[in-house]
Amino acid sequence: MSEQNKRLTDVGVPDYNKYLPPIIKKNYGKWSYHKVIKSGVLLHVGENGDKLYSVRAGSPRLLSSERIRQFAELAEKYCNGYLRFTTRNNIEFFVTNEENIEPLIKELNSLGFPVGGINNTLGNIIHTQGWLHCHTSASDASGVVKAIMDELYDYFINPVLPAKIRMAFACCLNMCGSVATSDIAIVAVHRTPPKVDDEKIRNICEIPTVIASCPVNAIRPKVVDGKQTVEVNEDLCFYCGNCYTVCAAMPLADPLNDGLAIFVGGKVSNARTKPAFSKLAIPFLPNNPPRWPEVVDAVKTIVETYKKGAEKGERVGEWIDRIGWPKFFDITGFEFTKYHIDDFRLAESTLNYSNHTTL
Ligand code: SF4
Ligand code: SF4
Repeated sequence: MSEQNKRLTDVGVPDYNKYLPPIIKKNYGKWSYHKVIKSGVLLHVGENGDKLYSVRAGSPRLLSSERIRQFAELAEKYCNGYLRFTTRNNIEFFVTNEENIEPLIKELNSLGFPVGGINNTLGNIIHTQGWLHCHTSASDASGVVKAIMDELYDYFINPVLPAKIRMAFACCLNMCGSVATSDIAIVAVHRTPPKVDDEKIRNICEIPTVIASCPVNAIRPKVVDGKQTVEVNEDLCFYCGNCYTVCAAMPLADPLNDGLAIFVGGKVSNARTKPAFSKLAIPFLPNNPPRWPEVVDAVKTIVETYKKGAEKGERVGEWIDRIGWPKFFDITGFEFTKYHIDDFRLAESTLNYSNHTTL
């Protein structure tokens, strides 16, 4: 074994092989097929006839330790302790005894966790940190997601949509959630430039680092009362928050002007049509806690208009491509504005044409 392989480190992701349930280890790369046997339950069959059932429950993502203990106890009781958390905040229980499926679902439901999210459903929303954890956020994340899923709960459980809908929420343009490639994506946006605190900045930030952090060169050095600070060219700034990430003396949160934009039509899958980025549907909705009614209404409108008009198997983007964007705006009632036009000439003159800036 090489020196490098012998090295012990806690850096990076642990080897997932160590944590696979025995039946998955045994059948690794040798699964024959899988099928949905009921909403939220998949049957996986190995080449040798082994059967594994995965039972998917939605979670709100932010979980108390008490909740996690409850999940662990259920896993001990029904599936030898084996479960996993998916990237979309579902919990999947790996059940090998078919008789355990119904009691497990019953207990999950009694704890308030729905089972579903497979096939033609609205999957659990992948989302970011929001006000609770991230300094750059233009909106809360979990609160908006909770308000949306409370309204669209039935679509998680019942596979009644033309195809699956994958949703994502990011609380700033850094887009930690996978919003660029989701059927419906909500992005919280700042709309005002950072405010420079000339006093603080020289004590807590490195000026060259702050200047270098801006992807569109909008930050310039400046001297105030003989001391170094910076100024922001407001015509260039597109409110990304990168500078605030490296320098706490440049906050850009703004309760009145921050809000939410909605994008539609992205997908990762290359089934039928190639993968696609999502495109702007609504440029701005107010940040209206605690239930964000404008955002909930808009998402519900998209889901229900899609449900009514799409053909079986058609993802949101494929449906819009078929009917055309003018019809999409027509039947959803969303206003088409100047912000929907990708103005390349403006982008060129303001340097806003890098990957940093193109949604
Ligand atoms: Fe923070 Fe932005 Fe990521 Fe939200 S999307 S967690 S605000 S960096
Ligand atoms: Fe530059 Fe973004 Fe800061 Fe604006 S918010 S000054 S674009 S880094």
